[in-house]
Parts: sequence; C-alpha cells; structure tokens
Amino acid sequence: MEYEVVVVGGGIGGLTATALLAARGLNVCLLERQSQVGGCLANFEYQGYQFDPTYGLFSGWEDHGIWPRIFAELPIEPPTARALPSPYTVRFPERTEVAVVSDAREFENELRRRFPECADVASDFYQRLETETRAASPETKLADLLQNTSIRFRRFIDVQLETFAQCSSETCSGEIAAQVLNRRYWEIDGGGQALAHSLAASAKASGAKLRLDTRVLRLAYATSGEPIGVDLLSGEQVTATRAIISNLTAWDTYGKLVGLAKTPPALSSQLRKLQSWGAYLLFLSMDCDAVSRLSSRRVLALTDWQSEQPYDPSMAQLVFTASNSDLRPRDAKRAVTISTFSNAEEWFSFHEDHSVHEERDQQMLEGTWSRLHSAFPELGDSVEVIESATPQTFYESTRRKFGMIGRPFGLSHGADWKTHLPNLLLASDTATRGLGVAGVATSALAIADHITRFPRL
Ligand SMILES: Cc1cc2nc3c(=O)[nH]c(=O)nc-3n(C[C@H](O)[C@H](O)[C@H](O)COP(=O)(O)OP(=O)(O)OC[C@H]3O[C@@H](n4cnc5c(N)ncnc54)[C@H](O)[C@@H]3O)c2cc1C
Repeated sequence: MEYEVVVVGGGIGGLTATALLAARGLNVCLLERQSQVGGCLANFEYQGYQFDPTYGLFSGWEDHGIWPRIFAELPIEPPTARALPSPYTVRFPERTEVAVVSDAREFENELRRRFPECADVASDFYQRLETETRAASPETKLADLLQNTSIRFRRFIDVQLETFAQCSSETCSGEIAAQVLNRRYWEIDGGGQALAHSLAASAKASGAKLRLDTRVLRLAYATSGEPIGVDLLSGEQVTATRAIISNLTAWDTYGKLVGLAKTPPALSSQLRKLQSWGAYLLFLSMDCDAVSRLSSRRVLALTDWQSEQPYDPSMAQLVFTASNSDLRPRDAKRAVTISTFSNAEEWFSFHEDHSVHEERDQQMLEGTWSRLHSAFPELGDSVEVIESATPQTFYESTRRKFGMIGRPFGLSHGADWKTHLPNLLLASDTATRGLGVAGVATSALAIADHITRFPRL
C-alpha cells in the first residue's frame, strides 16, 4: 500500500502527527504493534481493575498552549482538562509537607513557612528562574541559581525535577527546570489514555488509516539508499511518498528501523552514551476513606535526604498517585499507582531466566512496600498490592529499549526531531525540548508543519 506519510507507533507522538497531517488533507497510515493506541499512556488493566500508569499531571492546556493549538485544527473536541490549583504535595522524610500550589502569593507564603532557614533565597530562586529563563538564556545552570539555599530546599527541587524531567538540580538546565517548576498542571478526564483516544478518533475522522496489531520490522530502502517506506513483520511493504515518522525512541529508531549498519558511527556512539531510568510501578487498591485523609491525591515523597551524596532518585523518592474516581464503587476502593525509578538495564541481564526476574520483582516490591509505609504510616492496612510493573513489563508493552522511560540523562535540550535522513522524522519523548506528552506533541506539531511546508523532503 502507498501513502503520503507512514507513521510508526501509536503513542502520543505518532497519534498527534497523524491527527494533524490527516486534518490537513494528507493521506496518512499509522502502524501500531499493540492492539490499542497510547503507548506509555495506555491504562493498565488487571482482573477488572483499571490503573493509570502516569502521574495524571499534564501541561500545555493554557490558552494558546500546545493542546488548544493542536485541537483548533482537528475535527473533534478535546477531552476535558481541568487546571489544578494544587497539583501535588512534596513530603519530606520526617513527613512534613510542602503544598505546591499555582497561586503565586500563596506559594510564596508556603515557601517562607516551610523553608525558614533560607526563605528569602528560596523565594528569590523562583523569581530568578522565571526571569532568567525568559531572557532567552537556556544555558542558565540551575546549580548557580540554587547557591546559598539549604539542602532541604535543594532536595525539594530535586524530587520535582527527577519526577518530571529525569534530571537533578546539578545537571538540569534552567530552561527545563522552568517548565517543571512553573506549577501549572491540568488533569484530563479519563487520563492520558482519553487524550490518545481523542487523537485516534480525530485521525480516523479525517480519513487516516490506523492499523493496530501491525509490527514494523525496519525501513524499506530504494536502491539509491533512500528510505521509501517500511517493511512489516508480515512481509508486507508500506510505502511513503513524502515522509516516514518514527514514534519509537531515538535508540529504537536507529537500532531497529534505520539499522545499525546504516546509522552514522558518530550518531551510534552518541546514542550508546545516552541512558534513562526504568520505571518500577506498584498498582494498589486503597480504601476511599484513607485517600481522603491524605493532604493531596498526588504526593512526591522524598524518602531519604541523601545530604552527603549526589541525589539518587532510585533510592530517595517515590510518587503516590490516587485516582479521582472509585475503582469498584461497591467496595469503596480507589486505584493507586506508586512510581519509582530503577536501573533499566539491570532488569535485562537475566531476561532469559523468568524465575530470576520474578525474584527481583519480589525483592523490589518488598523494598518499595516498606519505603511506602515508612513514608506514609497513616496508610496502615488500607492498601493492598494488585500488581507490579517492571522495566521488562514496559519493554513488553512498548518495545522501548530496556523499557527505558522519559528523557535520557544529560539531554538538556533534547535531540532534534530531524534525523540524518531528510524524509525520516522523530516524534518521541527522547527527542524533544519539552516535557511529558506536551513535549512530544510540540515535536509532532513541528514535524507536521515541516512536512506540510515542504512537499518534497
Ligand atoms: C511512571 C510515568 C509517569 C508519567 N507521568 C506523566 C504525566 O503525568 N504527564 C505527562 O505529560 N507525561 C507523563 N509521563 C511521560 C509520558 O507517558 C511519555 O513521555 C509519553 O507517553 C511517551 O510518548 P511517545 O509517543 O514518545 O512514546 P510511546 O508511548 O513509547 O509510544 C511508542 C509507540 O510505538 C509502538 N511501537 C514500538 N515498536 C513498534 C514497532 N516495531 N511497530 C509498530 N509500533 C511500534 C509502541 O507499542 C508504542 O505504542 C510518564 C511516564 C512514566 C513512565
């Protein structure tokens, strides 16, 4: 089959690009290996329970933000997104909390109350972050802005940066930190999966072809060496006259689609150096009463100050996210997701032997369970483990290299969405200057504009 654009992957990047290009009248085909769209955003279903694997915090829904701009072009309405006046709380090891609120004055008062040891510098930090990054100095080093703040304040910043951008205050750029710390988050009715479904519905309404359960093996090349489409695992070839968009991670785009032999050596060595975290998640059920006793449905818990060492999020933090609706109304239970980071590669050194994986999962579960109860003693016996997800689980569902999630370490500005091949473009969270799904959508919009502007790439 021949299309103008072929999109590999039905995560948020692939779906956004497909919906936009189809709405602009291009003939587009999206190929997704799973039986559903959404990639990392797809809800996790187990024994009749539905869990959201994300924190449920989304940016870019403000007036003229990325989502209103995208949906203004699409033939369907966006899902309902609600601004959160108090998106989350940060909890410290001794269980004091800082409420992160969008109102500037209220937040300033909260900072002064919670960080009396450096109240002026802490308040100054937020102001300088905003002005210096707005003054187009993306090279602003956060570490400079944090000078003279206390370790408590720096860890308050670290736990937020690692959660949303996978970098610490020592490595993060001012540009990324400003996006994370601006406290403007929205909740989407139905979660990130509802957003994915809206984009898929829009793409179909505009005439795009969405093929699920379709695994792409690699790019198909003309004898001239130029990519002309993709080969499927089934042996079928799908050709693209204008462009191929890869929604795979940068590692998998080159490692699998382009092929290592056809990847420039400098690029291969750069990719080998890039790494990111694996996610270890616990899916719990929790008594509704117990959820309502917490200060917030989303808590970023710092479980260890690590004051004498560089911040290691895999040992120092976990994120508690409770859904806002009853999991099973008759049982008065809520779905809760606990997210932690783990070294992704380590989960693959034994992947031949399933029992070793089970053993490591059990160890990780016990360690996380004990850290959870120590951070939230008020949970008592109100929570029950339903299932866990390891980096291997992420690999199995999304085929991301080692199940790695989010931004690669040290990638301050994100790789460009262009590749060394003019007609191969990258719509992925590993190649964007932004954060989370808003960042991927920003790259997808730039790609759609590029393809529309240049009929021949
Ligand atoms: C624990 C956790 C919490 C998060 N919370 C938030 C949050 O609250 N807010 C936020 O904005 N972001 C959040 N994120 C980040 C966000 O989920 C991801 O950045 C985003 O969903 C990635 O989208 P993507 O389109 O780049 O890739 P993916 O979602 O990985 O999509 C890639 C798609 O390609 C498909 N695919 C792979 N190989 C092939 C192949 N050979 N052939 C065909 N298809 C293929 C996969 O099946 C998948 O559907 C969170 C991430 C994690 C891990």
